[in-house]
Amino acid sequence: MGQHAENAPGETVRPEFRTGRVRELANDGTVRVLAHLPGETETWGWANCGLIEHRGRALLVDTPYTPALTEGMLARYEERVPGVAIEAVALTHANGDHCWGLQALPGQPEVIATEATAHAICHEPSPEQVTALLRGSDPDSALGAYFRAMFPFDFSAVELGRANVTFRGEHVVKLGEGADGVEVHLIEVGPGHSSGDLLVHVPQAATVFAGDVLFVGHHPVTWASLTGVIAALDRVLALEPEVVVPGHGPVCGPAQVAELRDYLELLRLHAERCHAEGLGLLEAARSFPLPAYAAGWGMPERMVITIATHYRALSADQGAPDMVALVGACAEYWAQAGGRSQGDAERAAGGPVPLPEQRGAGADEAAQAGRG
Ligand SMILES: [Zn+2]
Repeated sequence: MGQHAENAPGETVRPEFRTGRVRELANDGTVRVLAHLPGETETWGWANCGLIEHRGRALLVDTPYTPALTEGMLARYEERVPGVAIEAVALTHANGDHCWGLQALPGQPEVIATEATAHAICHEPSPEQVTALLRGSDPDSALGAYFRAMFPFDFSAVELGRANVTFRGEHVVKLGEGADGVEVHLIEVGPGHSSGDLLVHVPQAATVFAGDVLFVGHHPVTWASLTGVIAALDRVLALEPEVVVPGHGPVCGPAQVAELRDYLELLRLHAERCHAEGLGLLEAARSFPLPAYAAGWGMPERMVITIATHYRALSADQGAPDMVALVGACAEYWAQAGGRSQGDAERAAGGPVPLPEQRGAGADEAAQAGRG
């Protein structure tokens, strides 16, 4: 069961996926804001990136997951802004799908990140470790099947980059000099999705790149702090943007930010009830009454990770998340759903799902047996 990718090593990314497209979000003659949107979004790892340009000089927001994908993105930008000089790149956070393409950037741009992100880049699972999981795990195990289905990338050429400008709080990047220059505000909002999230705000263009505190069209994944992501979304809304670029999914406006905030608040309350009742993670995820607007969202298995993150907070567990173990729990949920990751419209249409009767130790096993 499950979906087994059958790509040969070194060919895990299908060629048609290499080409994303660039969309212009704002252009007032002084500042242009572009987003690189991947051509594929149905698995993990297809992140949006940005380019903020002023008179031929630019700040990038994030890189794609691999050097090859990053080269494809740079070619698309070059078509739209010929000769653009990338002076700096701001990393919204440390997950590989936002920074493992750094080595493909020409010249030696400044790499700007929060201090927490700079630390996390060196401590999250490395490209070598992820490659070992992709190639070495049992394809018939839930985790092995999930990794193969959900991470269709080749990480073998990735050399980990480093941030060389770090900050806490806020940091302003100025493109150009004098009154004509354009300010870009980097605003630390982590821990939330990750330990060191930041927002990229271009006030002159009323645009915010939110990184992975915002997902659109898929269930979000929260590694560090659920209440932190909710506060980060409040921060996005307080900036009163007209255009918001999520880490993953289509470009949107404030309404989608408010919607995700609402979902996370409901999930927080649900997780707190389940924690108090001693429910396991899978059972808690399965019994979350999905709001109607989330019915079509993909990757519902990621609720497991977000709930686990809030369980850790409720248990005052200060330790770093075990990302591989959490993806393993996510894979169990996915495998029990038949290896499907599309939305759960049926369940949402049916209204709230009652909590199962069985409680306490073994609750997840009971849930697996009864509701798989
Ligand atoms: Zn991401």
